[in-house]
Amino acid sequence: MSSDQAAPLFGRIALIGIGLIGASLSHAIRRGGLAESIAVSTRSQATLDRAIELNLGDTYTTDSVAAAKDADLVILSVPLGAMGAVAQAIGPSLKPGAIVIDAGSSKSSVIADISPHIPDGVHFVPSHPIAGTEYSGPDAGFATLFDNRWCVLTPLPHTDQGAVEKISKFWTACGSTIELMDPGHHDKVLAITSHLPQLIAYCIVDTATNLESDMQSEVIKYSASGFQDFTRLAASDPTMWRDVCLKNRDAVLDVLSQFTEDLTAMRRSIRRGEGEELHEIFTRTRAIRLEVIEANKD
Ligand code: NAP
Repeated sequence: MSSDQAAPLFGRIALIGIGLIGASLSHAIRRGGLAESIAVSTRSQATLDRAIELNLGDTYTTDSVAAAKDADLVILSVPLGAMGAVAQAIGPSLKPGAIVIDAGSSKSSVIADISPHIPDGVHFVPSHPIAGTEYSGPDAGFATLFDNRWCVLTPLPHTDQGAVEKISKFWTACGSTIELMDPGHHDKVLAITSHLPQLIAYCIVDTATNLESDMQSEVIKYSASGFQDFTRLAASDPTMWRDVCLKNRDAVLDVLSQFTEDLTAMRRSIRRGEGEELHEIFTRTRAIRLEVIEANKD
């Protein structure tokens, strides 16, 4: 390191889980010079071998405890359903002063599953990078995944302020813009903006697959961009999305109820030939699209 280069934010960073998010973090950490060393841990030997081939770390193990021990920052990038078990395993070996963060897509469940296993003197800062693709595994990772994307932190009132500031710096250095939010509020917002569209995509593509086989091949052959966009979303990792449904259950059920009511109202308008009603809805939604484009311009 040259004398005018800043010291890395962390000494040893342990990446527990090295799929899309873990591997992208490895690239972003390297790009920003954010760690002295990266310890990579994953459940299977096959994924670990691939992580070694891709040079995603400095040390490698299938033992999450060995990776987390002596780490200054431990990042859990495993499916939501596995967060609790991983935290329970590594909890006793975490070093005093260490910070633990997760990348989970739902926050209340993660806080309930992880917090009980965080020893005194270790800080847990729940995080959710709002960034992703439909791909998974270590090959899917890339350095710019978090650039110009939101990262929502949902610290609790007792969370150490110094740790929150350090984690804000970390995600900012990974390219993200930080937003602090209450965990329950985060789960409601994400249920509408991310989880509902994903479930609609799964449902539409499943409906198409349930059509008789002749029709099915035509659906695929003539698929216009609308359907193609849905198939892209519906190709997302089944384990991840199963866990989102189960772990953000209440918020997801709420938005599904609202959506079902709105869909029923739209169906009624079509049945009754209420063109004006339909035109009004489609005009409203068009204006929202323009707002979304405007909000994401920078
Ligand atoms: P991924 O590509 O499927 O990678 C998952 C990683 O977790 C792999 O290292 C996998 O290990 C490990 N793993 C899977 N099941 C496990 C278990 N039962 N116990 C321990 N480890 C297990 O997943 P990802 O897309 O990176 O997602 C990771 C987390 O980030 C999830 O909590 C997700 O909610 C969140 N997230 C995802 C996105 C997205 O768009 N994908 C966006 C934001 C946040 P092996 O391969 O060795 O089995």
